[in-house]
Amino acid sequence: MHYDYLIIGQGIAGTFLSYYLQQLEKTVLVIDEVKKDSPSRITAGIINPVTGRRLVTVWMADQILPFAWDAYSAIGAQLDIPVISQRNVIDFFPNPFMREGFLEKIKTGDQHVHAYPEQNHFNHFFNYEFGCGEIRPAYTAHVEVLLPAWRNRLNNIGALREERFDRTLLQYQNNGISYKDVTASKIIYCDGPGGFENPQFSKLPYAPNKGEALVLEIPDLPPHHIYKKSMMLVPMVEPGQFWVGSSYVWDFDNADPTQEFYDRTNAVLKEWLKLPYKILEHRSGLRPATLERRPFCGIHPLHPQVGILNGMGTKGCSLAPFFASELAEFLVNEKPIAADADVKRFTKVLSR
Ligand SMILES: Cc1cc2nc3c(=O)[nH]c(=O)nc-3n(C[C@H](O)[C@H](O)[C@H](O)COP(=O)(O)OP(=O)(O)OC[C@H]3O[C@@H](n4cnc5c(N)ncnc54)[C@H](O)[C@@H]3O)c2cc1C
Repeated sequence: MHYDYLIIGQGIAGTFLSYYLQQLEKTVLVIDEVKKDSPSRITAGIINPVTGRRLVTVWMADQILPFAWDAYSAIGAQLDIPVISQRNVIDFFPNPFMREGFLEKIKTGDQHVHAYPEQNHFNHFFNYEFGCGEIRPAYTAHVEVLLPAWRNRLNNIGALREERFDRTLLQYQNNGISYKDVTASKIIYCDGPGGFENPQFSKLPYAPNKGEALVLEIPDLPPHHIYKKSMMLVPMVEPGQFWVGSSYVWDFDNADPTQEFYDRTNAVLKEWLKLPYKILEHRSGLRPATLERRPFCGIHPLHPQVGILNGMGTKGCSLAPFFASELAEFLVNEKPIAADADVKRFTKVLSR
């Protein structure tokens, strides 16, 4: 059987790449082995316009955020399920210095950082002696419902194989590749942390980062906002369930959940939350982060039949729709990929 594109991985990157290639009337086969700890299966789906303590506007926010809203809305409409919601962030200041920094940012006229006039609004739910502000617009992508729904769609049209892709069976032809009984014009790797070991692209400057989160039941907490203090508390699709996290660890031995994170998060919640909660799940995995915090998108400089969409780091839910669309438009219509993301910037490294 021949396909235009063989895609390895159906995380958030492979989902959107297969979606856009189909929109452009190309045939795809997606090979994906479900891994419980792959980042797209443990993410909170936060799409936040600012980052870090200093509330810096995220890279390409003006393009990427509205694009993400439209992309999730469109794929959700096709699947007949909502897969994105606006959930602005209520930022509870942990100390007077953070409050001061936030107020200073408002004074600069920042378009995402705002005062929250009803300072006592959350008194029933949280302890917050230094007040709060609001970050907007922010969104949650409902990746936990999008991925299985898109998987069903692919399955129903014969575009999915649920198995481990075995690189040793891949063969390069002049005009494409072959794999088992399949031929394709190109193979595109959307394999997330699996890509760290992919010999074609393992020389890229990945910087694996470990993250952990807990899933909580808090029946009485309103689900209309993302709440932030030293951690993010994020409403999930299942009523009464919230995601809390996460850690950012650069130095680790394995991707397993740790008692240290569990205890620390529990301590934060006891001090912050006034409502009773129950811990349902402890999640942990690796982020496919990169040294220069930019994705890897495009075609291998030496192998025109091999491509990549990876390196989404801490922001895959915002970045994946935009760069999947860029890659699809590049492959089909030869439109250029943003230079900061195009993997051809690593031509030297990948040619060694
Ligand atoms: C705790 C945590 C919280 C996060 N929170 C957020 C957040 O709130 N907002 C945000 O934007 N980002 C967040 N991220 C980051 C985000 O989850 C990632 O950037 C994103 O999920 C990466 O998606 P991906 O599709 O590139 O990779 P993946 O999710 O890893 O998908 C790759 C897929 O390929 C499959 N695969 C790999 N190798 C093979 C093979 N050989 N054969 C078959 N299948 C294979 C894997 O099983 C997987 O299904 C978070 C990450 C973590 C760890």
